[in-house]
Amino acid sequence: MSLTTYFMEATYLIASILFILSLKMMSHPDTARRGMFLAEGGMFAAIVGTLVGTEIISWTWIIAGLALGSIIGAWMAITVPMTAMPQRTALSHAFGALAAALVGVGEFLVHINDLGGIKRGALGFEIMLGALTTTGSLIAAAKLQGIIQGKPVQFRGQNIVNAAIFLSMTGCFIYSWIHPEAAAVFYTMLGLAFVFGVMLVIPIGSADMPVVMSLLNSYAGLAAAATGFVLGNNVLIIAGTLDGFSGFILSVLMCKAMNRSITNVLFGGFGAAIAEASTDTGGVMREISLDDAAMQLAFANRVIFVPGYGLATAQAQHAVRELGELLEERGVTVKYAIHPVAGRMPGHMNVLLAEANVPYSSLYEMEQINPEFSSTDVAVVIGANDVVNPDARDNPKSLIAGMPILEVDRAKSVIVLKRGQGRGFSGLENPLFYKSCTSMLYGDAKSSLSHLAQAVQHV
Ligand code: NAP
Repeated sequence: MSLTTYFMEATYLIASILFILSLKMMSHPDTARRGMFLAEGGMFAAIVGTLVGTEIISWTWIIAGLALGSIIGAWMAITVPMTAMPQRTALSHAFGALAAALVGVGEFLVHINDLGGIKRGALGFEIMLGALTTTGSLIAAAKLQGIIQGKPVQFRGQNIVNAAIFLSMTGCFIYSWIHPEAAAVFYTMLGLAFVFGVMLVIPIGSADMPVVMSLLNSYAGLAAAATGFVLGNNVLIIAGTLDGFSGFILSVLMCKAMNRSITNVLFGGFGAAIAEASTDTGGVMREISLDDAAMQLAFANRVIFVPGYGLATAQAQHAVRELGELLEERGVTVKYAIHPVAGRMPGHMNVLLAEANVPYSSLYEMEQINPEFSSTDVAVVIGANDVVNPDARDNPKSLIAGMPILEVDRAKSVIVLKRGQGRGFSGLENPLFYKSCTSMLYGDAKSSLSHLAQAVQHV
């Protein structure tokens, strides 16, 4: 082995260790930020190692790619708002998967006759997963961005059509594995994989898109691992496998938090029958004035804030922290209840509240905080809806029956901050808003919280 190859393998080892450590650190909010930096360091080491240890045919394309990728990445990081992070992530998956598919096509064009049976299998696998993840992720991004309708697109015989595409694609994969010279079959497999990605995601509603995205993340990781096998690149195998399995574990955790199975998410068409499934509560929502709400908060002993997607869209994280601090100065015990699927991506609320410097010690997970609601004077629901919907617990016929919820309705008083009568992402009515303990404070969450803070100061 030459010196440069030793250097490359050493950087791959360092990169792999950094990736593993970063994953471990990202599992806790205290260390997540540092974990992210470690992962970036690992990626940098892997890129430097590859450039030093590989025979470079032309630097022009590499430098052009680095420059273009860095400009697009920096531009996205600066301009994309937090609320659009899920679709931004979906776009990144699409780019990563497309890269894996293109590398696979390049290998097919140049080296297919030199590859042994196992590597040819890995190549086909890489191209199928890469291609279907590319179009699947683009559809997910378009649904989340509202470019195409978020509702599940379903039609009669859909499962049969999907099964036919899947079987044809798999058939082409096996044939071109055995007969690598059959280029037409290989490209048919590629085309079918692009179509299958679209068909896989259109029947899924936007509310389930985060689960789908982490599954697609998992596919993109496995495609990268397969690329690693084809190219004989260890760091790609390790990073791809880590990515593949962490994405899968995240999907399972999200499904658990919604009490749904992966098959229900993928094939259930959740959200298609919302209109029929919504119950008519028949009651009225009781409005509360700003001053009355401020009075309740100022004279409470214990207050729990329950943030949801509306807090993210309103960017109200700083405003809630300021109100929380004011209440604490008055001797009120303030806690924040975090539902695992509040918002639109895993850890959404943790990230927002951390950005506003809310101490981690004030954040409580669902299992920890639920027993505390009954001894809480005021639960303040800020732009959350589905995650506090008691129907999930009380109505076995509800579409979200069995989904664990934050049991705010057990608090002595509930104040809900939202703009109007809008429903949650599931599209279901929420009986919490009609309960006698609940009052509604209408308005944008950020302005309501700022006005509440001012009013509390005057109590
Ligand atoms: P939600 O059910 O989507 O409800 C958000 C509420 O916020 C809406 O009812 C809306 O009512 C209100 N709102 C919107 N903008 C607002 C603003 N500027 N100010 C004040 N209120 C505003 O949110 P959630 O309770 O956080 O539930 C998350 C949903 O996403 C769940 O259905 C969950 O299953 C799904 N999901 C999440 C993930 C994840 O990883 N986080 C994954 C899969 C699925 P108005 O329009 O009346 O204001």
